[in-house]
Amino acid sequence: MTELILEAGKERSLFRRHPWLFDSAVHRVKGRARAGDTVTILAHDGRVLGKGAYSPHSRIRCRVWSFDADSIIDDAFFKRRVATAVARRQALPELAGQEGLRLIHAESDGLPGVIADQYGDTVVLQLTSAGAEKWRQALVGALVQATGCARIYERSDSEVRKLEGLTAATGWLYGEAPAFAGGEISIMENGVRLGVDYAGGHKTGFYLDQRDNRARLAGLTAGKSVLNCFCYTGGFSLQALRGGAASVLSIDSSAPALDRARANLALNPNLPAERAEWLEADVFQALRDLRQAGRGFDLIVLDPPKFAPSAAHAQRAARAYKDINLLGFRLLNPGGLLMTYSCSGGVGLELFQKIVAGAALDACRDAHIVARLSGAADHPVALNFPEGEYLKGLLVQVSGDCQVTGDRCQGAVV
Ligand code: SAH
Repeated sequence: MTELILEAGKERSLFRRHPWLFDSAVHRVKGRARAGDTVTILAHDGRVLGKGAYSPHSRIRCRVWSFDADSIIDDAFFKRRVATAVARRQALPELAGQEGLRLIHAESDGLPGVIADQYGDTVVLQLTSAGAEKWRQALVGALVQATGCARIYERSDSEVRKLEGLTAATGWLYGEAPAFAGGEISIMENGVRLGVDYAGGHKTGFYLDQRDNRARLAGLTAGKSVLNCFCYTGGFSLQALRGGAASVLSIDSSAPALDRARANLALNPNLPAERAEWLEADVFQALRDLRQAGRGFDLIVLDPPKFAPSAAHAQRAARAYKDINLLGFRLLNPGGLLMTYSCSGGVGLELFQKIVAGAALDACRDAHIVARLSGAADHPVALNFPEGEYLKGLLVQVSGDCQVTGDRCQGAVV
């Protein structure tokens, strides 16, 4: 067995059960290890610390499979890990009956580089590390056994694979394309039917992490004018309609996403389609145009893409978050609600809240946090892997008499 020997002192993160070993932590590799091979991890003094997957092309040189020195990494190991992940969801009543469900959330489920999302009887698998790639067949077998799913589609075309020296891989791994019209898959999510483009959509086709927050929105929209920015396939928009919104304007820059959103609305004939308006535009520009046109909204959702994949991008991302939140505050009617998110790993909750506070101040709005929001329970954050907490949101209410007075806002363009 190939051994990966750590620099002195670099074993400390393993004692906290953190699953990443960076290149700088590695003293040397004894024996021949190819991408994805299992290596035994040794402290500098020779103590065996666990087993991990070797990634020669990535700065994360090794991802730990097991912190148990005696564990054997084989098909049975993945069968156990996958079964545990699936059981973890089954044990949570709040997830019962959901047709769209994240089954495996990578590091937080003890399976670095492995994402598996279930849509009805189809599972979409995404592998993002050399180690995960190596165990593709074992993972497929384990998923079939744990879920009884009819088919598994691979969506390993995420950009992060390049960091691992891996090329894109997509296609059916198990079972056949669904027989129904157009190969379409749809799920029921809290009273709304949504089509999922597993082959061409973002990620594995849909943003399951926002499920609870979309449901929460429905409870806030009765009689309200709603603006949904970065709407993708309309998940928040449809929940807003379900909640009785008077109007819902949804903006996204992606034409295919908007086509899917319109099709999703058509899948729900019970919803008042005439109250929905879809706009293909850049949100940064569209918000300025709406302001120019003198528009106002009672409730605004801002769910932008990842502006900062890592801490290195945090500054530029902070400017982008500030910009859209500032524009959002300016468009809110007195007493209105802003539901604002960041899914950037590089921007923590504290920084995000500071950005939103700065945006309110510059927009001359007096505002309060009504709720802090996060990902749904099928996207658990392992306590030993705080990086797993990427999605954070704030529900903020602006005051009814919302103009802040004082020098700062004198003459400000609001
Ligand atoms: N809220 C959605 C997920 C949003 S994902 C849901 O619940 O499903 C982010 C979306 O932002 C994507 O659909 C992407 O097409 C869109 N997007 C990215 N940059 C944009 C921009 N500058 N203007 C408008 N939309 C943008």
